[in-house]
Amino acid sequence: MGNAVIAIHGGAGAITRAQLSQAQEQRYIEALSSIVETGQRMLEAGESALDVVTEAVRLLEECPLFNAGIGAVFTRDGTHELDACVMDGITLKAGAVAGVSHLRNPILAARLVMEQSPHVLLVGEGAEKFAVDHGMESVSPDIFSTPERYQQLLTARGANDIVLDHASPLDESSKTGTVGAVALDKAGNLAAATSTGGMTNKLPGRVGDSPLPGAGCYANNANVAVSCTGTGEVFIRTLAAYDIAALMDYGSLSLAEACERVVMEKLPALDGSGGLIAVDREGNVALPFNSEGMYRAWGYAGDAPSIGIYRE
Ligand code: ASP
Repeated sequence: MGNAVIAIHGGAGAITRAQLSQAQEQRYIEALSSIVETGQRMLEAGESALDVVTEAVRLLEECPLFNAGIGAVFTRDGTHELDACVMDGITLKAGAVAGVSHLRNPILAARLVMEQSPHVLLVGEGAEKFAVDHGMESVSPDIFSTPERYQQLLTARGANDIVLDHASPLDESSKTGTVGAVALDKAGNLAAATSTGGMTNKLPGRVGDSPLPGAGCYANNANVAVSCTGTGEVFIRTLAAYDIAALMDYGSLSLAEACERVVMEKLPALDGSGGLIAVDREGNVALPFNSEGMYRAWGYAGDAPSIGIYRE
């Protein structure tokens, strides 16, 4: 197999050239390039798709530009509740955490749930206790806070709105997104990972699509690996990530056709805004979105990476 490839996203929303200064744009491009290149190097070295997507999402969580881990958005009560999921296309095993506030890297906790528990999804305090029992550090939720995100909360509260990290009425220059990664490794295995702070001003206790296998994250070696970003409730109702796989499987659609159907038809029909990244078992990559922009990057092992922010 010579098609080893990784794609990553940093969230979708109302991102236009006019809203980002050149300096801001450069910061995103540098962050996306460095993380996708790390993934490409890992694939080139023969590492597994599962390890590659976990590491890419961990790095995205560490980057304050994106709404996951450090830089996560605030709930209505001014708290942080983080969600993450990882899925292995070989075994169809998945692990996820939702509503966690004290774990620096929710994606590592999701991986622990997948590998060290008989369960798929753990929430809140139970998830945190499980992760700490398995060696993760419990951190103060303050580490996730950034002044930009707090300002977003105040703006959203003022507008009485629950908003995507990139959606109006917020100042786009200070917003960024949910993160995710999908990869095909040299052995032909697929994996997907997604992590998020959710949506600004969400009700405490709200869980979005990101930690739900089939909604915001899905991988199956038989066809495709998918990671989504956007208005989570609609991605849940349409099972968007699994729908891509189902259209390819039952409907024999190509990756591009399945993406067109879900992202450009089915999601907008329910007012769903956002996009997804996907790689199929042949190494074809798709990064469709129906919003104005989506932070994204992809690259084959050994090639130069490609970066995108706006609609072309
Ligand atoms: N899908 C995420 C959620 O609803 C938000 C996002 O992608 O920005 O929690």
